[in-house]
Amino acid sequence: MKKRLSALAVSAVLALSAVSCGKTDNSDTDTVKIAYLPITHSLAVLQEAEELEKQSGLKVELVKYGSWSELLDALNSNRVDGASVLIELAMKSKQEGIGLKAVALGHRDGNVIIVSNDIESAAGLKGKTFAIPHRQSSHNILLNDALATAGLTIDDVNVTELAPTEMPSALASGQIDGYCVAEPFGAMGVSLGAGKVLFSSEELWEDSLCCGLVLTDKFIDERYDDAKSFVESYKAAGNALDKETAKQVAEKYLSQTDEVLDISLQWISYNDLDITEDIYNTLTEKVKEYGLSDNPPSYGDFVKNDF
Ligand code: ZN
Repeated sequence: MKKRLSALAVSAVLALSAVSCGKTDNSDTDTVKIAYLPITHSLAVLQEAEELEKQSGLKVELVKYGSWSELLDALNSNRVDGASVLIELAMKSKQEGIGLKAVALGHRDGNVIIVSNDIESAAGLKGKTFAIPHRQSSHNILLNDALATAGLTIDDVNVTELAPTEMPSALASGQIDGYCVAEPFGAMGVSLGAGKVLFSSEELWEDSLCCGLVLTDKFIDERYDDAKSFVESYKAAGNALDKETAKQVAEKYLSQTDEVLDISLQWISYNDLDITEDIYNTLTEKVKEYGLSDNPPSYGDFVKNDF
């Protein structure tokens, strides 16, 4: 019996070597192209890129973009295989007929409502100017949630869309009175002394969604096994991202000071990145309630959680 087992083990090893030899010979299909923005919300994908090649021979080519609209163009036209992207933007693309699936969360929590130092409560936002990066974002939802705590609505503030990098200085100069955006730009406003945290995302919306790891249907259909390995390694990379590792990855990919990263990384975590039906349905309810979309894609159509 013992002998038979070891013979089986040898054939298993040989089979594995054959698979890995085949992969090495075909270098074009060994690469996964993933788009990202240099923000702490993308750290799980940046961490994975380091680990995946060592583990499975699959190489992640990270493609950096300067704005969500450029990143979305690349994703929607299949110039990349996937992206870490604001989930509402991907939902909108899906609604417009683009073949995309959300396969994991980008991060958990990790957003804050930043206001100027003289604003003491949500009620103090009435009549003020507040910046968000895009109408299709959880930052817009969190602003609506924050206003609701004081019985206000989005009609009680002037909402402006600004590039994330411009928000801390816009607050410092008094051009805006508050903002909510992907990190570490909230932390940058705090670090500059331009403003303070009025709410963290979990105070307003428990288990909030923000960024998602999204893959194209083309990639999933044509390279299912690679997509499966990629998603499994991505979730493992997220679980391995404790504060210290997250800071190391952030230092490598983001041009930010130690102080900004230390403030920002307190607010975010990367473990357990599954998109469950419950948390997705809460998101679609908010998307409808706050007027981001009347008809967001259903969980079954848009989320793939069964690799
Ligand atoms: Zn995010």
